[in-house]
Formats: sequence, structure tokens, C-alpha cells
Amino acid sequence: MINMKYDVIVVGGGHAGCEAANASAKQGLKVALITSNINNIADMPCNPSIGGTAKGIVVREIDALGGLMGRVADISHLQIKMLNSGKGPAVASLRAQGDKVTYPKNMLKELKSIETLDIIEAMIEDIIVEDNTIKGVITADGTKYECTCLVLTTGTYLKSKILVGSTHKFEGPHGEESSKHLSDKLREHGLEIIRLKTGTPQRIDPNTVDYSKLSIEEGDKTPWTFSFDLEPQYDVNKQRVCYLVYTNENTHKIIMDNLDKSAMYGGYAEGIGPRYCPSIEDKVVRFKDKERHQLFLEPESDYYPDLYLQGFSTSMPIDVQEKMVHSLVGLENAKILKYAYAIEYDAINPLQMLPSEENKIIHNLYTAGQINGTSGYEEAAGQGLIAGINAGLRCKGKDPLILKRNESYIGVLLDDLVTKGTKEPYRLLTSRAEYRLILRHDNADLRLREYGYQVGIVTEEQHNRLLKKIDDIKNLTEDLKNIRITVKNESDSIKESIGDLTKGESLYNLLKRPEIKIDQLKEYIEKDYSNEVYGIVEIQVKYEGYIAKTYKEVEKMLKLEEKQIPEDIDYDKVKNIASEAKQKLKDVRPLTLAQASRISGVNPVDISVLSIYLKKEYGKDK
Ligand SMILES: Cc1cc2nc3c(=O)[nH]c(=O)nc-3n(C[C@H](O)[C@H](O)[C@H](O)COP(=O)(O)OP(=O)(O)OC[C@H]3O[C@@H](n4cnc5c(N)ncnc54)[C@H](O)[C@@H]3O)c2cc1C
Repeated sequence: MINMKYDVIVVGGGHAGCEAANASAKQGLKVALITSNINNIADMPCNPSIGGTAKGIVVREIDALGGLMGRVADISHLQIKMLNSGKGPAVASLRAQGDKVTYPKNMLKELKSIETLDIIEAMIEDIIVEDNTIKGVITADGTKYECTCLVLTTGTYLKSKILVGSTHKFEGPHGEESSKHLSDKLREHGLEIIRLKTGTPQRIDPNTVDYSKLSIEEGDKTPWTFSFDLEPQYDVNKQRVCYLVYTNENTHKIIMDNLDKSAMYGGYAEGIGPRYCPSIEDKVVRFKDKERHQLFLEPESDYYPDLYLQGFSTSMPIDVQEKMVHSLVGLENAKILKYAYAIEYDAINPLQMLPSEENKIIHNLYTAGQINGTSGYEEAAGQGLIAGINAGLRCKGKDPLILKRNESYIGVLLDDLVTKGTKEPYRLLTSRAEYRLILRHDNADLRLREYGYQVGIVTEEQHNRLLKKIDDIKNLTEDLKNIRITVKNESDSIKESIGDLTKGESLYNLLKRPEIKIDQLKEYIEKDYSNEVYGIVEIQVKYEGYIAKTYKEVEKMLKLEEKQIPEDIDYDKVKNIASEAKQKLKDVRPLTLAQASRISGVNPVDISVLSIYLKKEYGKDK
């Protein structure tokens, strides 16, 4: 039975699905978000945090583009702080302890406020494809929904299996129903399926912890927001705290003595786990020389007591988990409210995806989130937003939005997935972003908001605020260059920092001195600028040389990005390319010479051979 025809259907109400539904519906399209459990929308099955190193910048990028994660996190957190602020602007990033009750609730409220969005509860177990083009989906009870574009964001639910020691059960996270057939159907339609794994730690009863043995981790006293449009809506003095815990030799001995009982090391699991978010077993095995590993006890919500033991995810049997937890100083008598487990699930090989997140085999099919082989709420949300934008643009017959590596972390993530693929759950790190000095927390709106406005999911009012900010930055920079001070009007605070000025100096050049902070120069500037504008200009002035160098590198990369590679190129005809490189080029089928140069195993000499071939065969010189 055909139910209804939509422009876009989004399957899955997780972090990717919520952003995809918002981004396509806000383009004025008729959209359905179909998810297996409406009460599970925007669920945080693992760590209660939003943001963190690199991830916090992704949340800013999502907000700049018109997404929801930033503004929802700003009204649903227990604690927030700026990480790495001492390590320079390229890695400073916000991290919030999200409330696992209010975050999903506020996200659902946002989604319900979108007129053209229907939210439907059903398990999708098949897709409808005609002539390699998506036509709709079929639910577990056989109901069909038609659509022009489909966005699959099924997360960790495809054939998901929960593993604790040698026991397993086919279930989704915390007892949710798993999707049993969809990945088989996707395989039948020619998609390559991979098996991945991740894990979650214990939840601890807060009344059974000896806090006198633990040190406290507090939120910042400086109020922060992820969103560019919201004022802080919390009391910095009423933030919840986290606690620092350490493993010790005894913990490591218990783990090593029982290693063969863990699902991962006992051979009960087949999925590949994340290298950069390892289980505690992995840490102890891989870093044998480390005497202790740092853990955090984190509150999950103001509405229930559980404390999340971050960094202690494991697939050990329950009796061993008891011993492991009780070996930790401060948790000797701790009561475990929920045991840790590993979860295995199906995902698709992201090399079968275009940078727009459209599938290469089935047209108008987009995939986003954990299904693409990534891990993390933020990574999923960023992908969902772009997939939702592009499904909407496809419905309108417009070209997709493809963010480049010099424009955003989301661009870095997607380019890595479609160019290098992934064998394990992919997590974003600052080290993955070669242009990270220009992909900062402070300038995400300057980099991306115009795109959100062009697509129609950023409002006029938000866009006007951006234009004013750009103006203010230009004017303040001019002011700094034009205002000069001499020893006559040198302030005491500047004197204290650099002594008497010997000659007149522009504020701009003064600011370049490491001893001078922009706050010390505000008294010389008449016009009123926001702290945000002062903050950005300070970074731009102090890092001017490094930023200019980065733009030079970007220029070189963009030149190669302009060199398109024809879709029908036959790499077997390109002589003198190494066979490994040829195979990789055939597998990935890069769209540009720049993308080809980022494929591992393709060397610079292969790129120049290819460039010459393109010139000769396709006259591609420009
Ligand atoms: C146990 C566990 C531990 C994790 N540990 C970590 C970690 O340590 N670090 C980390 O970075 N990330 C971790 N994650 C991953 C993190 O949860 C995900 O990265 C993130 O939630 C992915 O978002 P998503 O939108 O892709 O999918 P999900 O959040 O998984 O959402 C998928 C949604 O789709 C719905 N759905 C699925 N299949 C269907 C279907 N066929 N029909 C209809 N609806 C469907 C589900 O109900 C759900 O609402 C963990 C996840 C789990 C489950």
C-alpha cells in the first residue's frame, strides 16, 4: 500500500537524521522523518558530551550553516568549557556535558516546529529502486512511502549485536530494536557492507562513590555558547562537576588476566573498533608502558542519577567488570547501575559515496552518520546537515553543496571518507585538518554562513548579523592600523607590558607583540565592537603571518581542485602510472586532480603523469 509521496524521506532520528530533516524541510520541501522509535530521537547512547577537540568546531560549523545541534546543546547542558585554549586558536574547541533527557526533548521540539516536516514511527526494512534511482522505502509491515530523495541515517542499528563477554544478543543500543534486514537489502542493490564496532562504559550509582579520593573537573567561569545566535542561558556558578579517576596496576592486571574473556580479544566479535576511542582493554594492551589511564566520572542528566565512567568502555563479562570497577581508587564500593557493552553493526563502504554524500550506484540516495563509517554525534550531525541540504538541492534541480578541506572540518571529514575510505569507525581529529589554523572555533560563521543563507536555511536576520560582523571586523582592523599612540598617551597597562614606547606605534603593530592583549587597546578605540569581533581580530593580527602562509597552501590546493577528471576516464590507458596507484584511482574514481593527490598510494609523480595525460587526451590545461 502506497502511503504518501514526499520530496525527501530521512530514515533514522539520530544526530544525522535530525539535521538532515531540518536542512531539507527548511528549504520549503515536503519531508518525512521516519524512525523506529520517536521517543528515541536525538538519543545519546554513549558519552553525554557534545563537542570536544575538533568536534566542538564542527558544532559551530553546523550552527553557522543553519543546523540545530549547537542551539539545542546551548539550552541542554550541565557544564561547558573551552578545551585547549592554552594551545592556540587552531585547536581551541568547546565541550559541553549534555543532559541526556533535555537534549533529545529540545531537539524534538525544534523538529516539531517545522511545518513541512512529518515525523513517522516505523522500522524501514527495504528501499524501492527503479533504473538505479531511489523511489521510496518499505516498512517492516510492508507500508510503502515514496520520495524523490532518500537520506539513510540508521546509525548503529543495522544488524546491531550487543556483546558482553561471550554472550550476545541482536539488539540496538540500550535495548532498542535493531534493523534486521535493511543492510541485506542494500547489499542486494549493490552496496558494499562493512562490519564495525564501538563500545560504551558502565553507569555508576553516585551514592556509592568515595569523592574524597577524586579530584573535581569544573566548567569554565566564562559563559560560552556553540550558537552564533544565542546568548548564554545558564549560570556559570551552577554547573555540574565531573571527577577525575585513574586506572592502576591492579586494574591492568585484572584486564590482562581476563583478556580472553572480552568479546574483542576472546574472538566473539567480528566488527572493527575505533582506534581513537578505544576500549580500556585496547588501551592496556596497546600502551603497556603506561602505568595509569585517565578516566572521568560524568553526570548524564539532572533527571536521573547515573554517572558515566568515560574512558572505561569494555566488552568484558559482568563479573570481570565488577572487579575492574572496584579496583579503581574512589570506586572500591561502587554500585554499577548499567554494565558496559560493545555493539557491532553494519555500515556501508564510504568509497561508494560522492562528496555530496549521494551514493555512486543509486541516484538520489544519500547516506549520513555512523552508516558512513564514522563515530561521534558531531561527525554524524555534520554529515546529516550536508546530506539534507543536498537532497533538498537535488529536488530543486540545483548543484550540490560540497565543502572543501580549507572551508570546514565537515569538508575534511567527507573528503577523507570518499577519498581514503575507512576500515574502522572514523573520528575527527585536529591533526586530520591540514588547514586547521583557518578552521577555527571563532570564524565558523565567516566561513560557512553565506552557504546556509544561499541554500535558504539561514534566515535574513542571521545573514544580516553576519554582514554586520564582517563590516565590524574590517572597520576594527582599519582602526587598529590608523590609530597610533606615542609615549604621551601610552597607558599604564601597556607601559607595564612593554615599557616606554620609543616611537609612535600603530595599535595594529602593538597588537602583534606577544605581550600585548587586545583588551589593553580598547580604550583607544571609540567605536563599539563586540567581544567576539575583538577576539577574531586579535587572532587575525597575531597570527597574520601563519594565516597568510596557510592561504598560500590553500591557493595551491585549489588550483589542483580546478583540474576536473572526466567521469569516463579509462585509467588502463594512462601509461607509466604505478599499478597500485592505478588500482586506487579505479576504486576511488576521484573527481579532481587534488582529490587524486590525496588518495593514499597515489604519489606526486603519478599526479604529474595523470595531469599530462589529461592535457593530451582532454586538452585540460587550464
Ligand atoms: C553503545 C554505543 C557506544 C558508542 N560509543 C561511542 C564513543 O565512544 N565515541 C563516539 O564518538 N561515538 C560513540 N558512539 C556512537 C555515537 O552514538 C554515534 O556516533 C552517533 O549516535 C551516530 O549518530 P547517527 O545519527 O549516525 O546514528 P544514531 O544516533 O545511532 O541514530 C540512528 C537512528 O536511526 C533509527 N533507525 C535505525 N535504523 C532504522 C530503520 N531501519 N528504520 C527506522 N529507523 C531506524 C534509530 O532508532 C535511531 O534513532 C556509540 C554508540 C553506541 C550505540
